[in-house]
Amino acid sequence: MIDEQIYWNPVLETLPQEKIQVLQLHKFKRIFQWAYDHSKFHRSLYEKAGIRPDDIRSLKDIRQVPKVEKAMMRDIQQKEPFPYGDALCVPLEEVTEFRQTSGTTGQPVYQPDTWQDWEWWAESWSFILWAQGYRPIDRVFIPFGYNVFVAFCAGHYAAEKMGCEVVPGGVLDTKARILKIQELGVTAMMATPTYILGMADTAKNRMGIDPSTLTVDKITCAGEPGGSIPTTKKRMEEAWGAKVYDHAGATEIGAWSYECHVQPGGMHVNDALFLVEIEDEESGEIIYEPGRQGKMIITALDRQALPCIRFDSKDIIEWAPEPCPCGRTFRLLKGGVIGRTDDITKVKGVLLAPSAIEEVVRGIEGLSDEYEVVIDKDVDVDRITLKIELLPGRESERPSIEGRLIDELRLETNLRYNLEFHDYGALPRYDVKARRFKDLRPTH
Ligand SMILES: [Zn+2]
Repeated sequence: MIDEQIYWNPVLETLPQEKIQVLQLHKFKRIFQWAYDHSKFHRSLYEKAGIRPDDIRSLKDIRQVPKVEKAMMRDIQQKEPFPYGDALCVPLEEVTEFRQTSGTTGQPVYQPDTWQDWEWWAESWSFILWAQGYRPIDRVFIPFGYNVFVAFCAGHYAAEKMGCEVVPGGVLDTKARILKIQELGVTAMMATPTYILGMADTAKNRMGIDPSTLTVDKITCAGEPGGSIPTTKKRMEEAWGAKVYDHAGATEIGAWSYECHVQPGGMHVNDALFLVEIEDEESGEIIYEPGRQGKMIITALDRQALPCIRFDSKDIIEWAPEPCPCGRTFRLLKGGVIGRTDDITKVKGVLLAPSAIEEVVRGIEGLSDEYEVVIDKDVDVDRITLKIELLPGRESERPSIEGRLIDELRLETNLRYNLEFHDYGALPRYDVKARRFKDLRPTH
């Protein structure tokens, strides 16, 4: 018999894929009809493409439904009525939540949610937290000020819904947060990888507290790829003496993916609440088999106020070859979210993903957690400079570290780097998301 306690929803999380697909088709038709009937923007998009709700009879048919991109949402929101344009599917008085995207480029997109949507957010986060071992006995600390962003705010409500005790640590500074974790015997935490490492550094080097001796035994990551980069994850797990789990979500989509307690080297898609398609970027065909990367097209199957239907998320993902040993039938993505199409840049004609550099740097022991990558031009040739810090007391290892960096970076990325060693503490520190990758070439 399956141990039902492993799963937040033992029925949905173990439903055979054929039945999941029946559910997905049913839900897709429902959300498509909803958007068609209630959003002027969606209706006109679909009319232009010549597709009506009755045309959707199989999961294959949904490929005729036009994709939506973030830039389109930005355009809609420039128009009346303020602030959501003509895509809002409910009367304004039914909107209970305002959020905005936290992207680094361009105008933020505003995101309305109804109370039902907000409960859906909490439900989707409950799948994540339960799979990562959160239980009602846990005391959960959230060292993050929610501001206008949804990150961790929905995790907060999910933890409450599950019966955990939630400690909001938003306005405290880093030292006060560490003392609070120590005082209360906190058992779980949610933060960005940058901040998880930054907190550990402050505890160890400025307060004389070894974070691995504290009581935190599980940490949920969001906001950056580090939770799925093995070397970064290892650093976080060793620093805190805790299991570190990744999850993926976005303001305009929802919390759609999570790593389970087995840590299979990838993340499950929440197939009951989302429909994920992987599209080959060149041919546009849908990829069903493992081992081929493509970009994610995603539908939030239950979201009401501003539907997310076939949203082109720019995330690069790939199906895992085997199902997960945890018993969940929700599909598995190999390596989580591998990158984003707009993060990948061409240097000297070679495609470079920033996460490949992170994986190398974080795998070398004598280096600190911080690094910075600057791409510019030396006359008219691309040049990449990698700035790193040696940990105190490791200066004598510099030649061997330098050799390893050159070799491993060449192997992983096929590129040569100028290495710039800095004193420990000289590179900038970040509280939430780091800006480590700077492309200063004039065409960018
Ligand atoms: Zn699993």
